[in-house]
Amino acid sequence: MKTKRCSRADHKGSAVLPLSEFPTNKRKPDGHQTYCKACARRYDKVWRVQDRKKHPEKYQHYQRAYEEQRFLATPPWVEKLQILALYEQARTLTKETGIKYQVDHVVPLKGKHISGLHCLSNLQIITKDKNLKKSNKF
Ligand SMILES: [Zn+2]
Repeated sequence: MKTKRCSRADHKGSAVLPLSEFPTNKRKPDGHQTYCKACARRYDKVWRVQDRKKHPEKYQHYQRAYEEQRFLATPPWVEKLQILALYEQARTLTKETGIKYQVDHVVPLKGKHISGLHCLSNLQIITKDKNLKKSNKF
């Protein structure tokens, strides 16, 4: 098995990893990045947080679009109190377990093929990790 050493100084754990653990990059001599996937993910996250702080206006648009989408997807018969309770439940779970829980739309509000509603039957509590992995897929 071909291995490679991660070039990042802040790499956690053993820095020698299988080549498959490095993102591909055709411009590099061996076709892979000099840093591993875990470092890339960590770096990406830090970059996004910093970028958000530096250019909040770049992200406002997304937030507004999301709120508008949610408003449009909210049926008039929506179970407001129960939904608020669900969000409260997610917050409580986060506090009690130390794991970040979020309220997720089972069918995304703006899916590729179908769009879900912002109503109780389309909401579920899941961990933040799961939510990020799920992204906008359904
Ligand atoms: Zn690394």
